[in-house]
Amino acid sequence: MTNVLKAIKGMNDILPGSVPRKDKLPDSALWQWFETTVRSVLGRYGYQYLLTPIVEPTALFVRGLGEVTDIVEKEMYSFTDAMNGDQLTLRPEATAGIVRAMVEHNALYNGPLRLWTLGPMFRHERPQKGRYRQFNQLDVEALGFAGPDVDAELILMVRRLWQELGLVVGQHVRLELNSLGQPTERQAHREALIAYFEAHAEQLDEDARRRLHSNPLRILDTKNPALQALVEAAPSLMDFLGAETLGHFNAVRAALDAAGLAYRINPRLVRGMDYYNLTVFEWVTDHLGSQGTVCGGGRYDGLFEQLGGKPTPAVGFGLGIERLLLLIQELALPVPAVSPTAYAVVADPASLPQVLVTLEALRAAGIAVQMHASGGGIKAQFKKADASGAAFALVFGADELAQGMVAVKPLRDAAAAQSLKPLADVATWAHELRNA
Ligand code: ATP
Ligand code: MG
Repeated sequence: MTNVLKAIKGMNDILPGSVPRKDKLPDSALWQWFETTVRSVLGRYGYQYLLTPIVEPTALFVRGLGEVTDIVEKEMYSFTDAMNGDQLTLRPEATAGIVRAMVEHNALYNGPLRLWTLGPMFRHERPQKGRYRQFNQLDVEALGFAGPDVDAELILMVRRLWQELGLVVGQHVRLELNSLGQPTERQAHREALIAYFEAHAEQLDEDARRRLHSNPLRILDTKNPALQALVEAAPSLMDFLGAETLGHFNAVRAALDAAGLAYRINPRLVRGMDYYNLTVFEWVTDHLGSQGTVCGGGRYDGLFEQLGGKPTPAVGFGLGIERLLLLIQELALPVPAVSPTAYAVVADPASLPQVLVTLEALRAAGIAVQMHASGGGIKAQFKKADASGAAFALVFGADELAQGMVAVKPLRDAAAAQSLKPLADVATWAHELRNA
């Protein structure tokens, strides 16, 4: 086994639940259920799907105007294209690529857009539970809306998603909210912060000292317990926010209040990307240890301009799919089972042509039917039928076939009787399977 290739560290296979595995990563059925639920919920709010490339020019993420973030500083998979020398990066997040696509296609020409995508992101982090080097995000963006109405709608849409996934707000997940103000307000706060941290320079750790002039706001986000007291007493951005910013913030709050959604204002919520302004939020859980943020987002009205587009208000969020599904597993929430409606027990291999024709007719009628295709005795096949979760076994035995029939045996209802159905006329009884 020494030469067997393995996946890259921090990059995972998502497999069917029937495959035993040592880690706790979600299985593919849970994954698909999440995707189906997302499509259903987002569709109800008028969000449209898009896809953008996984590889982008490095310059899309390393912007002259941007502040130095953790992601840009040390988490990006950047490389030189060996064919032509281009500087490329595996996307660490989806928003920049979506905004690039919007500017490139002048996509907001006909008005604002609500968009979503879903797929892998790449960050060179230390792999641990809930933190990977390739992970998947649901990414949702409302582009061209100044808010605060759409800010509130976006947050409430996430609540609806939680509800449909069985997560209880307040118990399993909760909302944290903040306002990052506008660039001028942040600038004033930033200067006050730098002055404050400079005055306490001897207490800073290496990370904080490095960030002091590049991105002092990120010091507030430190995970170093030794810095907590210092950070706690730092000047608060709230005290630098003007009337207009507070008006926006209060309008978002009023909408959430009206919708009965409780939240905590967290003045230290700053987010990992530099482009946010006004509303920022995170949905957090206490059930996943230190990887507790399952969804984070906010407003980023300046990003279109940073990327060469017209000034365009925008708000969005990213949701970590692995983290969320880990949470659903951890809480043992009920997840709909995916089972075939019927399982075909094939007694005699010689009957295969008739079996296949019958099963094709059933599938044409919309019935999910799984064929036993690995031989073996009837008893073993019935065991598989049972394990598949199917509601019926279709028994293709010699006697039945001789009469042009298949036996339909209910597997989940002990009181229900077995019956014989004609092979030649599947359409007349297929609906009985579907409605059972
Ligand atoms: P964290 O503080 O946990 O590093 P972040 O602020 O870097 O999160 P965002 O850039 O806001 O994360 O991404 C949105 C969501 O994507 C996060 O809330 C989280 O659920 C998920 N996520 C981020 N990084 C990872 C990762 N390395 N592995 C798995 N999920 C991740
Ligand atoms: Mg991070």
